[in-house]
Amino acid sequence: MQEGVIVKSTGSWYNVRLKDDTVLKARIQGKFRLKGLKLTNPLAVGDRVMVNVEEGLETAMVVKILNRTNYIVRQSPRKKHFHHLIASNVDQVILVTTINYPMLKPGFIDRFLLMTAPFNIPTIIVFNKSDLYTEEDFMLFEGLKSIYESIGYTVYCVSSLNSENIEGLQEMLKGKVTLVGGHSGVGKSTLLNAIQPDLGLRTQDISDYSGKGQHTTTFAEMFSLTQGGHIIDTPGIKNLAFINMEPIDIAHNFLEFFERSNECKYSDCLHVNEPNCAVKEAVEKNEISELRYINYVGILEEVQDQNYWERNKEL
Ligand code: GDP
Ligand code: ZN
Repeated sequence: MQEGVIVKSTGSWYNVRLKDDTVLKARIQGKFRLKGLKLTNPLAVGDRVMVNVEEGLETAMVVKILNRTNYIVRQSPRKKHFHHLIASNVDQVILVTTINYPMLKPGFIDRFLLMTAPFNIPTIIVFNKSDLYTEEDFMLFEGLKSIYESIGYTVYCVSSLNSENIEGLQEMLKGKVTLVGGHSGVGKSTLLNAIQPDLGLRTQDISDYSGKGQHTTTFAEMFSLTQGGHIIDTPGIKNLAFINMEPIDIAHNFLEFFERSNECKYSDCLHVNEPNCAVKEAVEKNEISELRYINYVGILEEVQDQNYWERNKEL
């Protein structure tokens, strides 16, 4: 048996990178489960596994998954009661976004951060396409930057097309496993190619760029960086839903709310209608961003509504 890391998953076959950097195709033996979660995929990119290499063949059998230090899941886009494991064992996450090209959807950043908050995975928010920003776009960017930096996130403004301002990011990637995600069309592939030109990721042609964005990446995949470290490129995200989260999980994973919540009168405070709520007080005093609060209430209501209908359907 040898140890390896899953670097690509295409359904029933996986690519496993062994310690000596060879990559083999592998399948799973037996069933793997993650406690308490229904998963559409048992193994994800980033998983450390034990494999038996099949003599004479270029293939291997995965016989064991080593404990995950963390993982990132989302509600499966197709089966809503299932989770899709996006990746595991990541050191940090980059969310690539842009102010206006395509337009940033209100609340999208907050939804994305709900995926990285449960394990407190450091998250870097990159606003791309700065070469296209108007003065108003820059003002919006500055506003968002101060909100997210005050919570503890790192924020960059870059132009991937011109490789402008990407040195700081490049430095942060060294020696780390970094998952990179975002809506399609925001320039994630262009950014990754700027960071390491020989990745040669496919980007969308400007001429057939509709604003909707086509999927250029269908599966998550891990790439090695020449300067050391690895990146996990993920498929473009359209929508993020959180039907499998309980309202209190949403409250706990808005990190700056959670920090304050021990001062709320009720320990299970959802910071909406409860009296003596420290989070609402902080919003009034401008110590917590009103924008974050509005987005929080929106997500909370969505989860409460969906859970209500789901539970009544089951009765
Ligand atoms: P992905 O779907 O997020 O991987 O997006 P792509 O990297 O394929 O880029 C989508 C489109 O945005 C392409 O037409 C790129 O050329 C364009 N693009 C990417 N980065 C920039 C940038 O920094 N500035 C400008 N003006 N266009 C960019
Ligand atoms: Zn409260």
